[in-house]
Amino acid sequence: MKNLLKSWNAPRAPHPPILGDDEAQHRLAVFEDIERGHSGWFWATDASGHLTYISPAACERFGVPAEALLGQLFTSLFETDPENPGECSGRPLQFQLGAHARLSDVTVRLMPARCGPGARPAWWALSGQPKLDVAKPGSDGAFHGYRGSARDITTEYQRRIEDSRLAEFDSLTGLANRHRITRRVDQVLAAFKGTMRPATLMMLDLDRFKQVNDTLGHPAGDELLRQVAQRLTRVVGASGEIGRLGGDEFQILLADQEDRGKLGELADKIIGVVSQPYSIDDNHVVIGVSVGMAIAPFDGTEREEIVRAADLALYAAKHGGRGQFRFYSSDLRDEKEERRLLEEALRDAIASVDGADDSWDEPQLAMVYQPVVRTEDHAVVGFEALMRWEHPQRGAIPPSVFIPVAEDTGMILHLGAWGLRQAARDAAAWPHLLRIAVNVSAVQFAHPDFPGVVADVLADTGLDPDRLELELTESVFMGDGEATDAAFKALKLLGVRLALDDFGTGYSSLSYLRAAPFDKLKVDRSFVESCTLSDQNSAKIIAAIIGLADALGMETTVEGVEAFDQRDVVCAKGARLIQGFLYSLPLRQAVVLERMAGGQLIIPPEGPQRHRPERRSVYRRIGVIHEDHRYEALLRNLSATGARIEGLGGVPVGTSLVLDLGAGQLAVVTVSRSEDAIIGAEFETPLVSDGAGGLVTRYRASPSALAAAARMASKSAPQFLEVEIRKRA
Ligand code: C2E
Ligand code: CA
Ligand code: CA
Repeated sequence: MKNLLKSWNAPRAPHPPILGDDEAQHRLAVFEDIERGHSGWFWATDASGHLTYISPAACERFGVPAEALLGQLFTSLFETDPENPGECSGRPLQFQLGAHARLSDVTVRLMPARCGPGARPAWWALSGQPKLDVAKPGSDGAFHGYRGSARDITTEYQRRIEDSRLAEFDSLTGLANRHRITRRVDQVLAAFKGTMRPATLMMLDLDRFKQVNDTLGHPAGDELLRQVAQRLTRVVGASGEIGRLGGDEFQILLADQEDRGKLGELADKIIGVVSQPYSIDDNHVVIGVSVGMAIAPFDGTEREEIVRAADLALYAAKHGGRGQFRFYSSDLRDEKEERRLLEEALRDAIASVDGADDSWDEPQLAMVYQPVVRTEDHAVVGFEALMRWEHPQRGAIPPSVFIPVAEDTGMILHLGAWGLRQAARDAAAWPHLLRIAVNVSAVQFAHPDFPGVVADVLADTGLDPDRLELELTESVFMGDGEATDAAFKALKLLGVRLALDDFGTGYSSLSYLRAAPFDKLKVDRSFVESCTLSDQNSAKIIAAIIGLADALGMETTVEGVEAFDQRDVVCAKGARLIQGFLYSLPLRQAVVLERMAGGQLIIPPEGPQRHRPERRSVYRRIGVIHEDHRYEALLRNLSATGARIEGLGGVPVGTSLVLDLGAGQLAVVTVSRSEDAIIGAEFETPLVSDGAGGLVTRYRASPSALAAAARMASKSAPQFLEVEIRKRA
């Protein structure tokens, strides 16, 4: 059959032999058999492209009688598939017919508007050739229209589309798969390279996904991934393309985006949305997500460079405490090695306190105790134990850095048990029977042995269970609900108190308060930090949390009060217990004992009247550009809106300068203060968060623009005085 059609379509010999009647009859019979066999149809048009013949069986496919089709423009009967334009033959049908070209298996779809009611979508492969009047000797070769064949290829076409969709999309989530997103990144970077258009690659990795998979099983893990994909799609919308690389890793490509302010906001939004609780088979599941970002062309122009950069940023985000985002910066390159060293150092630190008696090393870890003070009379009512690590060479390493390392490596079980024991032992030695609060990581809490560890510590130290308060965060509620309930029950049986720490951050849910027997809520520091700023909501939230705790018969401690104006606000909102630098820093056991011996259990508040948003102290060489001159200076203080710069004298107030903060970060500032070679300057565009507590410019100058600027030589004499500044002790 195929051969028959082929030979029918083959170019005719220029002078076909004149057929005898018999032979013509025979050919007609073959032709009719093919038509009736429904496996192929014939069609013909006139010179103006209107249909003059179509096999009856073909009309059946359209679902209309032949009269509805005959006389219509042939091209009006078909269309290329609007959803898969690339799947139809390269050049459109209209173009090929117009050029009187031979058609060979051109894929088209029957135009739905031409089809009768109930006709199914159908795809045809069209073949045909122009009929040129060359048969008659002496004729002009004029075009007389087309004759051609068609066959239905719907089934194979749909299978092909499905196969390519499967090859491009992740069957679990429907997002682009690794293959497709990689190709898209390649395409976009290649297309943007010449014109220096920016593009951002975000890498996402879910936090604690493995725990869900392990505790609730793979089907639950799959369902979680599907829900995560839906949430991502909702947040990102049309602004980017999302792919799933496999496992719990996602990638988002954002073309024409380089504003680190907006990107940081988007990343925060993604983190917020993904961290909301999920309901999976009646289980309450909470996960987090970390985001790393790299921006072309600043962090690279090739896919390999950008992916590596985004990966390093993700790595840093994950290990910077999770639920965070990071932009790539060149200092991240050593982060992995840094992390390995930190793990090793932490292992040594734990060893240094493990058998401290017979150890040669100085103990590197210690517990310190921050007073919790009653606002009404400034009386100390208890302490929170906080862990300190003093590395012999590197100095103090904050718990926000080493606790996550300990959690990831499992060292937290050992470390946490040590901290708990140490705090209980110290508290048992106090002459006053004040409470001691100890932080418990969710990883520790999830371990089935945890209540046993607490019981042992109580037994060994003789501490009254009512004096021990365990501070938990909401992350203890993720995962296996039954195990969590059992742990709560066991702890309550021991008689210890429970506090919910950092309340109001993350995925606060009131159902936690109903489910678990907390004695106290701790209002997170972030609300206090902003309660005196224009942000009125923070103060209201503090009032609401205190009201809620009162209603439920729980105590509250407000954390992080540093200044009198903050104290006034939180007291007005009903705070009765405060923990903050305004009253005291955390104290060593020796100091606690000394004060207690002196009977000093009253601490008057002491500190600044007004809370000022933190200005970061820095010490960094930067470039200061004024007209065509570049000066070297020292950046000393940096906030989102301003900077203090040392080392430039004689700069009039009101001067506009450009600060070169490195790595393509140029910021326009106006001088607001200037004396003794110290300048105060305000940014024209405020800096934005880098996700790691630092500040960066929204935009960066492209590497090529920077190179051009560096080539620009000074033409005039400098106007300002460069003053050598020596690092102060
Ligand atoms: P946290 O449990 O919220 O502890 C309170 C943190 O706020 C402490 O930081 C404390 O020094 C700090 N702080 C107290 N008052 C003020 C204030 O007025 N202003 C400011 N800016 N900060 C204040 P620290 O000791 O660096 O601990 C950080 C976090 O590390 C803790 O947050 C806790 O989550 C974790 N952590 C500390 N020690 C332990 C521990 O022994 N075990 C576990 N699992 N986590 C710990
Ligand atoms: Ca705490
Ligand atoms: Ca806290």
